[in-house]
Amino acid sequence: MSYFADLILPLPLDNRFTYSLTQEEAEFIQPGMRLAVQFGKNRVYTGIVAEIHQNPPEVYEAKPIHQILDEIPLLTREQLTFWHWIASYYLCAEGDVMRAALPGAFLLESESIVKLVKDAPPDTEELNDDEYLVVEALQRQSSMKIQEIEQLLDRKKVLPVINKLVAKNLVDLNQEIYEQFKPKQLRYVRLNPAYEAESEMHQLLDDLSRAPKQREILLSYFSITAQSKRPLKVKNLLEESGASNSILKSLIDKNIFEEFFEETDRVVFSGEISQHEIHLNKIQQEAFDEIQENFRQDQVCLLHGVTSSGKTEIYIKLIEEVINKGKQALYLLPEIALTTQLIKRLQNFFGDKVLVYHSKYSVNERVEIYKKVMDNSEKGKIIIGARSCIFLPFQDLGLIVVDEEHESTFKQFDPAPRYHARDAAVVLANMFKANIVLGSATPSIESYFNAEHNKYSLVELTRRFGNVLMPEVEIVDIKTAHRKKKMTGHFSERLIAEIRESLKEEEQVILFQNRRGFSPILECNTCGHSPQCPNCDVSLTYHSHNNQLRCHYCGYHIAMQHQCMACGSNEVSTKGFGTEQVETELKALFPKHKIGRMDQDTTRGKHGYEKIIQAFEDHETDILIGTQMLTKGLDFRKVSLVGIMNADNLLNFPDFRAHERSFQLMLQVAGRSGRTKKRGKVLIQTYNPHHQIIQQVSTGDYSEMYKEQLEDRYQYQYPPYFRLIRLTLKCRDYSKTNEAAEWLARALENVFDRYVLGPEFPPVARIRNEYYKNILIKIPQKQSLGKTKKMVHRILNSFKAIGAYRSVRVVVNVDPQ
Ligand code: ADP
Ligand code: ZN
Ligand code: ZN
Repeated sequence: MSYFADLILPLPLDNRFTYSLTQEEAEFIQPGMRLAVQFGKNRVYTGIVAEIHQNPPEVYEAKPIHQILDEIPLLTREQLTFWHWIASYYLCAEGDVMRAALPGAFLLESESIVKLVKDAPPDTEELNDDEYLVVEALQRQSSMKIQEIEQLLDRKKVLPVINKLVAKNLVDLNQEIYEQFKPKQLRYVRLNPAYEAESEMHQLLDDLSRAPKQREILLSYFSITAQSKRPLKVKNLLEESGASNSILKSLIDKNIFEEFFEETDRVVFSGEISQHEIHLNKIQQEAFDEIQENFRQDQVCLLHGVTSSGKTEIYIKLIEEVINKGKQALYLLPEIALTTQLIKRLQNFFGDKVLVYHSKYSVNERVEIYKKVMDNSEKGKIIIGARSCIFLPFQDLGLIVVDEEHESTFKQFDPAPRYHARDAAVVLANMFKANIVLGSATPSIESYFNAEHNKYSLVELTRRFGNVLMPEVEIVDIKTAHRKKKMTGHFSERLIAEIRESLKEEEQVILFQNRRGFSPILECNTCGHSPQCPNCDVSLTYHSHNNQLRCHYCGYHIAMQHQCMACGSNEVSTKGFGTEQVETELKALFPKHKIGRMDQDTTRGKHGYEKIIQAFEDHETDILIGTQMLTKGLDFRKVSLVGIMNADNLLNFPDFRAHERSFQLMLQVAGRSGRTKKRGKVLIQTYNPHHQIIQQVSTGDYSEMYKEQLEDRYQYQYPPYFRLIRLTLKCRDYSKTNEAAEWLARALENVFDRYVLGPEFPPVARIRNEYYKNILIKIPQKQSLGKTKKMVHRILNSFKAIGAYRSVRVVVNVDPQ
């Protein structure tokens, strides 16, 4: 009998790859385990077993595997099914999904590490020259990478040499894979239970009367443990008693104390549960009951609740229900960095049951969380995090909450898999028969459409919690204001007056400007030239804090220029404005007030956001200026005014979703105003005061916006009426990009006819010296999605077979955002 395993390799391969197994291996290995295998000439990868069977591959000879890396599967069956779904829906390789889904520590590969086997004295006579060299080198340095061995032997094919050494049991391969993840261990002590009875305790203290330092430690131990029942860390005990480790050690040696070690949870909850109950008000309770009712009918539920209506409280209640049943809950957010407030709210209620999965966490931290979710441990019942959380190894998922479901950051843009976490979450929930609620104050048109057409159920909350009024919106026509000279820089008289008023009342202000940097573009007043990035087709952006011109696409930068690079004129000026400029102008207008700025430039580093948010929460800053980061679910108590500096650059964005996005963004920023008793105010500065979106924001009229946008979408054949697949060709050669794009577009037109648009250069047609060209495929509702994708796949394969286009890459984006 021969046995085979189909493996998913972390590579963009169309298919799984088959390896041969011995019978012994086949009996041990299960789907979901990792194997180290050779792929290509001399590279070793970690592969995931997808299937074990007895059919040899037809077109190649199956190679044996190198090593089994797991004793139990690292992936669940559900994960394997889910990966497969993502790969086929989003037209990418399972290997792409694998890379996105597993923490890096699980994926060690050909940077593989070779080590000498311990206690194996090399019998040098049996070694050939190469083998000898490797062994000798390994005696000097404890481990080597494959590449280092290639250098040592001065050739590419070193795996056979290593194979021989492995066979002679002289070296180990990839041991590091086991050792990569080292849980951080903490040392604890406890009193030997034999001394716990009071009489024993007194006896012990008496016995120790001649060892005062040891007695001191013991007394400290009693005093700490009397206050808290938690396990006592050695570190704390030593700190409290002022004793040294050696004194403690003598107590351990005498068997008075026992020491023990536990893996620490790097991602810890430090506080106490401070909120034990949540009382929903009548409206919330009705919404909650409705959601539960929809859940019973296995419906995806869309919760449309205005900002500050108390959606979070409802989510908490829903989560409580499922974890009381012992199930897991997943809370998905568009961006984890901004959610300190929310995490605190959840922890106040659920304590250390909440696990945060953060892309900024170290590899080890992520591995820890992965394992907890896998174990379905008490501490891992509620997982909160951004899109990649959907890849965790859930055991018994009961509920998914997708908060701010309209946010486009749920869609991964680069690299593949280009999945939409909200949509994938719906599939995931279905796999587990779990419930799912999508929540937003401004639902995406797609989700609302699904609710309207009974694909989802709809629950609405139209009032703010505590009957706080929705903020009053005022539109300021800055075209007229400019003409009447009623502007100071980018501030209208109205905005200045309102800011002054708020500050006088000791309230806080948020100003929103949808662009970072100072003045995006430098322009020559004589010839109109603006400095361009040499690698990309964009103008460089001016950053005042370091006096640089920078490219936002590739990072290229030069010093600020005071002379035109084209004509030499000294008359250069900056056009457009960003957050930095708003800050500078504001400081001049309100020199006595503290101003904070939150954008990509000020929030680098792990705690960048937290500091800025905390300072604003603590009212150390009076005015906070920011980009769309400010829109995301922040709950500040003392903000009475929100100013939108310029609504127009949102509206004029060349994209079919620009209007929907502008509406969502403005309404969300507006929602930061007046979240407590006093009615808040929102001021929108615009050149187009009569624009329908501005009007709809001012009345908070979601359904009007929805109706109007839907008509446009229908007329111009966009989602939700049509599905989209966008193909982007990338190549360093301009004419080759054009030729290849023509070829591909013609091939697609042969099948899809008038539903193929382009090829067309995007607004930024060259990035990092690569030319970009887009082709858009529109898929009518009645056309089969599966068949369409198969066809696209087939055409792409023919394309890839053309030698002349080898240097052209094609990026496939299903449901582009
Ligand atoms: P949303 O998520 O809909 O924007 P939040 O859940 O942040 O709204 O609620 C807005 C504010 O009202 C929060 O400060 C929240 O603590 C408070 N709140 C909402 N519901 C309740 C409730 N049932 N009991 C007490 N406070 C509540
Ligand atoms: Zn010039
Ligand atoms: Zn550039």
